[in-house]
Amino acid sequence: MPCYRCGARQTDPVRGASPWQRGVRDESQVLICPDCQRLRDLDLDSCSTCRSTALICRLGEVECRSCGAVWMARSADGLTGAVAPPPPGLSAEVEAALNRVLGRA
Ligand SMILES: [Zn+2]
Ligand SMILES: [Zn+2]
Repeated sequence: MPCYRCGARQTDPVRGASPWQRGVRDESQVLICPDCQRLRDLDLDSCSTCRSTALICRLGEVECRSCGAVWMARSADGLTGAVAPPPPGLSAEVEAALNRVLGRA
């Protein structure tokens, strides 16, 4: 995965931890190269609890690596169908009930 900002390709470190930083932007996992990490306008998502930008995004959830907070990614709503609009058949049901009350078959 290249740097989301400048498109640089990640090079494997010879040893030790990669200097590349992982972050979440618009609720998508992104990588930030060492050069771009020095910039202040990275526009990464931040934790609403501790303001940290050390987040990881997985399976429609975002987790803060600093304080451990976990929240649902908004973008997952369409995938899971967990947040559905009211069914369109509702008004028809109400209408049918009204018709019964009013004696109209
Ligand atoms: Zn970069
Ligand atoms: Zn946090």
